[in-house]
Amino acid sequence: MSATLAALIRELEPDWSIKIIERLDDVAQESSGPWNNAGTGHAALCELNYTPEKDGVIDISKALTINEQFQVSREFWASLVRDGKLPQQPDFINPVPHMTFVRGAENVEFLRRRYELLKDQPLFRTMEFSDDPAKIFEWTPALVVGRDKDEKIAMTRVEQGTDVDFGALTRELIQDAIDRGAVVRLGTEVVDLRRRPDGVWQVATKVRSGAERGRKNVTHARFVFVGAGGGALPLLQKSGIPEVKGYGGFPISGVFMRTDNPAVVAQHQAKVYAMPPVGAPPMSTPHLDTRVVEGKKSLLFGPYAGFNTKYLKHGSLLDFFRSLKLGNLGTYLTAGLANLDLVVYLVKEVFASKQQRFKQLLDFYPEAEIDDWRLITAGQRVQVMKKGPDGKGVLQMGTEVITGADGTISGLMGASPGASVAVPVMVDLLRRCFPEKLGEWEPRIAELVPSYGNPANASVERATEVQNSTAGPLGITPIP
Ligand SMILES: Cc1cc2nc3c(=O)[nH]c(=O)nc-3n(C[C@H](O)[C@H](O)[C@H](O)COP(=O)(O)OP(=O)(O)OC[C@H]3O[C@@H](n4cnc5c(N)ncnc54)[C@H](O)[C@@H]3O)c2cc1C
Repeated sequence: MSATLAALIRELEPDWSIKIIERLDDVAQESSGPWNNAGTGHAALCELNYTPEKDGVIDISKALTINEQFQVSREFWASLVRDGKLPQQPDFINPVPHMTFVRGAENVEFLRRRYELLKDQPLFRTMEFSDDPAKIFEWTPALVVGRDKDEKIAMTRVEQGTDVDFGALTRELIQDAIDRGAVVRLGTEVVDLRRRPDGVWQVATKVRSGAERGRKNVTHARFVFVGAGGGALPLLQKSGIPEVKGYGGFPISGVFMRTDNPAVVAQHQAKVYAMPPVGAPPMSTPHLDTRVVEGKKSLLFGPYAGFNTKYLKHGSLLDFFRSLKLGNLGTYLTAGLANLDLVVYLVKEVFASKQQRFKQLLDFYPEAEIDDWRLITAGQRVQVMKKGPDGKGVLQMGTEVITGADGTISGLMGASPGASVAVPVMVDLLRRCFPEKLGEWEPRIAELVPSYGNPANASVERATEVQNSTAGPLGITPIP
């Protein structure tokens, strides 16, 4: 998120000075690291949680928004490639078909109805549906071989899906920011944020590693973006802005199963999402993914969600307790009580053995061999908890930008669809924090992200134009 914001500011205000402060010894070691997230270019082509069903009606509005937002991200990346600011043959994004797989007659009907609604939407027009095991075998043999022939199964497929290595993208964006004058301080933690009476922010830092370990410093800034991922809530609380009062953070840990065995990897070339197990939160929807990281293919399965009290993978078990304040205690209590089932589910999941976890993979891939797979720790998610309209705490699954009233500080909390929609989220943030600059910036924003404010889903012609304008520069599958 911070790398994206830096890249946008570089395009809009090349003379502004930018300083990026990172507590770890390298960038992209938390959620944006390639093995800390699933690398799905979220466009709602396969994720069922973006098309919820209520009272028999499937709502596709969120799916449309997320796909349009992903097109905006693609446009920005493609424009940086065209201008030589990202590598000419980008390695961070790769074509990987997106599929949804369901089992059981009721779920097959649900998927069929979902397909009927989506296929007429311009951005989803290449979606295919099948409940024929022979066709599904053609698309993903590993899901069919060894499966009971009487089991009802169905699948949708969109060939133009993507896998994104957000770690590589972050490093490339940061390198470009450095090349264009930004300063990056690694191994340095922001420990406090104070606003001076003249409106300038004092950003207090402490060096965590190397020869200068323990050294304290203060940076002065007219604008601060708290792009600290799971660490954003505590920093926003320290800033003292009233807008963060009442917010809390619900940490969800996770593990994936991963295999790099070339023989196994060769059997599956897709990202396949399914329905979450009963009682599981939407972010633990299981999926079996082809990953492409540093040019090598692997398979990833999961995530298996769990609970611990850290806000960052490399954080402290005290993070959750330190975020409890008088102003948000009510939110924690009421949201906690309303989601007690979820807490129990997550705590139970933490203690599941590798064999128990492997059973979920067998539901997908009946002939998988346990010895080919190893468990890896995923990034930490911190879901937003905030006061709902009735004053009671609610758990929110998306991302949320919190901005101070005068627009001099802004921070981002929450997860999914996260990294995939970083560009529109950061453009929104700039518009909100610098309204006086908008007139000046609009023409450049329109060049960088033509579909921002001019939705790609408006017509088939528009969708084709937007999708195919980015496919070439990014090296991904165009639409026929
Ligand atoms: C299990 C999992 C699966 C996911 N799958 C996907 C997916 O498939 N597709 C997708 O688009 N998104 C996915 N996401 C979401 C995505 O990873 C995140 O939305 C995105 O990476 C967040 O980026 P960020 O820059 O906000 O946070 P991060 O990448 O976490 O970066 C925050 C940085 O701030 C640093 N920091 C924290 N506190 C301080 C401090 N006090 N001082 C200095 N530095 C600090 C951290 O060290 C870190 O480097 C997934 C997330 C998880 C956890």
